[in-house]
Amino acid sequence: MKFGGTSMGDAARIRSASKICAGAQSQRPTAVIVSAMSKVTDMLLDTLRHAEGGDAAGVEMMLAKLSAKHRECCEGLLEGPARTETQETLNSILAEFVRIAQGILMLGERPPRSVDEAIAVGERLSSNLMAAYLRSQGSDAVAINAREVIVTDAVFGNASPLMDQTREKAINRLKPELDHGRLVILTGFNGATMDGRPTTLGRGGSDFSASILASVLDAEELWIWSDVDGILSADPRIVPNVRLLEEITYREAAELAYNGAKVLHPRTLVPLMEKEIPVWSKNSFDLSKPGTKIVPITKEGPIGPRAVTSMTNVALVTLDPASAVLSGTRIMARSLEALAAANAEVLVLSSSSYRQNFCFLIRQSELPAVIEKLEEAFSLELAHGYLHPIDADLDVGLVAIVGEGMKGHAGLAGRIFTAISREEVNIIAIAQGSSELTIAIVVRKDGVDKAVRAVHDECGLGA
Ligand code: ADP
Ligand code: ASP
Ligand code: MG
Repeated sequence: MKFGGTSMGDAARIRSASKICAGAQSQRPTAVIVSAMSKVTDMLLDTLRHAEGGDAAGVEMMLAKLSAKHRECCEGLLEGPARTETQETLNSILAEFVRIAQGILMLGERPPRSVDEAIAVGERLSSNLMAAYLRSQGSDAVAINAREVIVTDAVFGNASPLMDQTREKAINRLKPELDHGRLVILTGFNGATMDGRPTTLGRGGSDFSASILASVLDAEELWIWSDVDGILSADPRIVPNVRLLEEITYREAAELAYNGAKVLHPRTLVPLMEKEIPVWSKNSFDLSKPGTKIVPITKEGPIGPRAVTSMTNVALVTLDPASAVLSGTRIMARSLEALAAANAEVLVLSSSSYRQNFCFLIRQSELPAVIEKLEEAFSLELAHGYLHPIDADLDVGLVAIVGEGMKGHAGLAGRIFTAISREEVNIIAIAQGSSELTIAIVVRKDGVDKAVRAVHDECGLGA
């Protein structure tokens, strides 16, 4: 089971999450993965930014807030010696963070390795709080730092798991605890390289931690607890009449997550698909709701469009040859090389046939590295004017419609484009993957929400 930030938001939330854990544990061996309390990772990152900027007062202020938030939660959960003992544990974890923040303050820079070690503190605090509370309620619970279990590569800030090594560690470290009937409460979000350097799995990465552990432990099921009823036909913050999807396929869920549905981290499903471990997305705020089951094939079969998602923290990069002498295909090939070197993912790729210019959509966080690698790869062409200066447009957003079997719906793409145009939202680029599971559309940023609602209506996805 994995509990997200809102499900760990305060003492009351941790109490109800703990009740769910203890209930599950009484039925079958259960491993729990927790996020930091909501907003804590942002607060930790903010503190480090103040430190990098030499703002000692800002650092102090943030530390006071972080410490107060966790102290208050500890006081809301525990009493007597258990409270004192847990408060000491929290203090010593926070002291490690303070040490790193002070190092950054002195250096005036934030080395990615130190950032990863520092921000994993949020999950260490929340996992210790939950384990201590569970013990106070009579459960045999233990907090474990996933750094001892999840082995990753050394891509700090966005590490990938090494599954074989992780499996070995999980069997050695976690199996004995589970076999003893102990409830293990693991930190989400973090891991470590083979030689023990701390890493993190990217923002929202606790979902991914949970799926990695579910896979290596050969779990029967993975339950992801969040603050929504399950996977919905759209983000409820954008569309009022969303529908809960009872079942969706791994491929649909993966496309939704990849195209911005925050309810799942984009890489969550990869470790589970091969073993066909079912995933439930459930609401920790409302246990009466059944949630969404993510499965290999749904009972209804492929029925066309199921959900719309969107993303606004993206950038559209255009490459435009100034001279017909250049081979457009070659430019494209070299650009893709540069994107790979920058470790970037292409969300949409679109090209025109005659002018040989083309554009691709990437995450904004990846833009600096992408521009650097592209300018490096095309330094000669740019210097001699064979290529127009590389253009990055940040005023765009992505809208994606996802569903198995959309291929069978004749005229669907046309209807979708018309619905968007009716809202007077201009379509900038379009892409449909060969799987025909997703239609991706790039529009101006201020048109994204309107386009999402228009498509949701047009495809009849609402409740
Ligand atoms: P957690 O902290 O539990 O990991 P997140 O905030 O990361 O939770 O993800 C849950 C949020 O995802 C919801 O509150 C909702 O606003 C958003 N969301 C976006 N798209 C969808 C969707 N299609 N279905 C459900 N939730 C969605
Ligand atoms: N706490 C981390 C974040 O906010 C990981 C997670 O919550 O999944 O990104
Ligand atoms: Mg999340």
